[in-house]
Amino acid sequence: LVVLKNVNKHFGALHVLQDINLTIARGEVVVVIGPSGSGKSTLCRTINRLETIDSGTITIDGNPLPAEGRELARLRADVGMVFQSFNLFAHKTVLENVMLGQVKVRRIDKKAAEEKARSLLDRVGVATQADKYPAQLSGGQQQRVAIARALAMDPKVMLFDEPTSALDPEMINEVLEVMQQLAQGGMTMVVVTHEMGFARSAANRVVFMADGRIVEEATPDQFFSNPRSDRAKDFLSKIL
Ligand code: ATP
Ligand code: MG
Repeated sequence: LVVLKNVNKHFGALHVLQDINLTIARGEVVVVIGPSGSGKSTLCRTINRLETIDSGTITIDGNPLPAEGRELARLRADVGMVFQSFNLFAHKTVLENVMLGQVKVRRIDKKAAEEKARSLLDRVGVATQADKYPAQLSGGQQQRVAIARALAMDPKVMLFDEPTSALDPEMINEVLEVMQQLAQGGMTMVVVTHEMGFARSAANRVVFMADGRIVEEATPDQFFSNPRSDRAKDFLSKIL
């Protein structure tokens, strides 16, 4: 579904993505882990063109990523993204947040968009918050709204960049549970996270990055019980 071939990116002198080759199959859940600064967020951001690349190719369903205009807006709808900081529209209600993209990008009429928004809010467990503003919600609730908003676009793939890192501990599980359900429902997902429990239980594959490279790719079982590279061993010894 998503194919990255020999992708390179620099930030000035920093070679932040180095010859990245990665194929994500439909329905696959790929968890990306690695030390701070290894390029995990940048990798995610290139897949929906929040960052451009210097060389290589990225295709979704065989099509190269569009550069601009309505095509780019559609790409961002096809590739849902959930960030560490929930990034909801502060001056729109929860319901409006989940309706907006459907109406503007997908051209769905308001009534259908509202119905879909309410059903998604119900699915992520925040149906009763529909008429509130984001600031009136807990972090865990806001993040679940952000997930509902991305899902409302019927994305082909969902990218999660440390979706629980900004949350108080007691709210982490409610977000992970929604993600777990999505994974079980067959959503194609790329998840950057430090939640190794989630990686073990939900991932089909773990991708370990260091210094802008994919150092290791393995099943969670293989990776956690028998990491091959010294970088991965060192990383795991620090976090487990
Ligand atoms: P973390 O675990 O801390 O989130 P990460 O693996 O997500 O780290 P990235 O955010 O992808 O890492 O950053 C990789 C490197 O690129 C870092 O050294 C970072 O400082 C640098 N970087 C990221 N974005 C930019 C930018 N817009 N301009 C310049 N340098 C950047
Ligand atoms: Mg990051």
